[in-house]
Amino acid sequence: MKNPNLLTQILIAFIAAIILGVIAGPSVEVVQPLGDFFLRLIQFIIVPLILSTLIVGVAGTGNVRKLGRMGGKTIAYYLGTSAVAITIGLAIGLAFQPGAGVDIPTEAVGAEPAAEEQNVVDTLLNIIPLNPFEAMVEGEILQIIFFALFIGIAISLVGEKAQPVYRFFEGLAEVMYKITGIVILLAPIGVFGLIAPVVGEYGMSVLLPLLKVILGVFAACLLHIVITYSIVVKLGGKMSPLVFFKGIAPAGLFAFSSASSAGTLPLTMKNSQENLGVSQKTSSFVLPLGATINMDGTAIYQGVAVLFIAQFYGIELSIMQMLSVILIATLASIGTAGVPGAGLIMLTFVLTNIGLPLEGIALIAGIDRILDMFRTSVNVVGDAAGAVFVDRTEKHHESNEDKDLEYSMNV
Ligand code: ASP
Repeated sequence: MKNPNLLTQILIAFIAAIILGVIAGPSVEVVQPLGDFFLRLIQFIIVPLILSTLIVGVAGTGNVRKLGRMGGKTIAYYLGTSAVAITIGLAIGLAFQPGAGVDIPTEAVGAEPAAEEQNVVDTLLNIIPLNPFEAMVEGEILQIIFFALFIGIAISLVGEKAQPVYRFFEGLAEVMYKITGIVILLAPIGVFGLIAPVVGEYGMSVLLPLLKVILGVFAACLLHIVITYSIVVKLGGKMSPLVFFKGIAPAGLFAFSSASSAGTLPLTMKNSQENLGVSQKTSSFVLPLGATINMDGTAIYQGVAVLFIAQFYGIELSIMQMLSVILIATLASIGTAGVPGAGLIMLTFVLTNIGLPLEGIALIAGIDRILDMFRTSVNVVGDAAGAVFVDRTEKHHESNEDKDLEYSMNV
């Protein structure tokens, strides 16, 4: 972990904010600009971060054309498990009701009212930008994800001639990782500026739900790991779940302490190859792509967080809005970079799309680092489960192809 003190600093800022909020009451509002400063910083990173990391993640995985079948299978697995993850997150959010009983009126915190309900068909069509540059200027995240994935695929189809474009985005991605790292270092200031005014206004009771959020995210992560991945490796990979969990444990633990799936990637690859017997060919395609687009833990977190924030502000979500959450959070998890705090950055996008008050970020930000540790472990274990699944089914396919070949040669 690059900055082992960050968690401590955030906790100190959190406690200081609570103390100040309790002592000073509503007048502590004066520190709000510190919170807004942090919120603006995390929002300003989104567009270039998604654009560059997704392009590099997709283009860097090699020749997409050659990898056709494997690529399709990998992407289907990633999308499928992310949708399952967010559904588990929503179910736990409904069962735990972490934000229930607080009911802070949205106007009281200056939040925007809930937007009109989204139509799923329009949301899907709207993913294709009419003008990618306009999409970037307007911060249309889904359109940017679409654009970035397409560029990434095209770069690998073009090959050598597209290398300058690839290297440009590779450099931009590094720069954006650096900026994200610096902004996250400022989290203690942001947490202080966001939490103190809320406690000052409403008292300490607003904090109790946060414990439920932590428990909810933890329970949902555990369920997803134990149930979903056991099924995937057992049925898809013909591997004992115990062998799988033991083999990937070092990477999972490293992910827990570093909160970065991109940073854990070398260890995920090593564990997958040495402990889980995944071939080099599969792991070098499936895992880097997974570290970029497959974020099951982040999807779970977004599910719980969305429900928490809706309940907190007393906003009831309709079934259609919940379905939109599954779609939007799956896409948001694709756009989340594998670096600490990226999920919090993407949460602003999910909230805006569902029409929930952005101020909800204030509460989540205070505990985000802890949630980040859980979700990053799930992100990494999910990538490895995907690698086992793809590798075993590919080997099976290849051995059948070999048998067919042998047979036709004998005939
Ligand atoms: N920190 C996570 C990861 O690297 C991303 C997130 O913040 O959700 O996988």
